[in-house]
Amino acid sequence: MELNVIDNGKCCFLFYRDALLAKSTDHDQMDIPTVQEVADLGLSTGGMLDVVAQDGTLIKALQLGEQTPLPDGWEWIGLRASFDVLPLQRYHQAGKAYQILYWDNHSRYCPSCGTPTVRMEPIMKRCPQCHYELYPPISTAIIVLVKRGEDEVLLVHARNFRGNFKGLVAGFLEAGETLEQCVEREVMEETGLQIAHIRYVSSQSWPYPSGLMVGFVADYVSGDIKMQEEELSTAAFYHRDHLPEIPRKLSIARRLIDLWLDRKI
Ligand SMILES: [Zn+2]
Repeated sequence: MELNVIDNGKCCFLFYRDALLAKSTDHDQMDIPTVQEVADLGLSTGGMLDVVAQDGTLIKALQLGEQTPLPDGWEWIGLRASFDVLPLQRYHQAGKAYQILYWDNHSRYCPSCGTPTVRMEPIMKRCPQCHYELYPPISTAIIVLVKRGEDEVLLVHARNFRGNFKGLVAGFLEAGETLEQCVEREVMEETGLQIAHIRYVSSQSWPYPSGLMVGFVADYVSGDIKMQEEELSTAAFYHRDHLPEIPRKLSIARRLIDLWLDRKI
């Protein structure tokens, strides 16, 4: 492919499944290569998508069909693991690139009439037949820190957690629900507890593959823990001085727990 000179210096987020191509830097970290560097590796750069990152930067993204051997200093790293080795800005950009690639791959045909869709804008496709418009879907989920008094927090281990840490109650928003109703329902379903004073704290894009986590804090009101066994393996209140292993810094769960430990929520 003939490379466009203007595009050569842009960051190129190249994925194989959910693994991202990264190169070592001098500072014991990794970074994302430019389009030119990817081309120099002999990898195909055809069919790259333009993606506008959250900070307004134009980046390039491409999903490869196969993984190729790499020279020293280059690695395929999992998108989640990339949090530990990439600059934070690049990690966020990688999440956006991944979501757009995922959407692009899952919106080739009109879901209404089956006609191949046409990309009209970076985040909009249209069906030329019935004019149905497609945008990247966002799956909204809530996550909530439930506190009992000032010193105890409800922590759970969900069966789908990757690891032994204990985190917070979370779940997907259902059609017709408000976020607050979702928080109340999830806590009741998973633990049988009644809560009150549900307050929004912050949110986090969760690009695995297209989530938005909306974080809340709430107060325990009443009830004994009756755990939903299909989803959870443990659920209990823990004192702030005796916490078990908690989630990694990557997640909003950890941010909420840290805010609570600092007595900010
Ligand atoms: Zn259509």
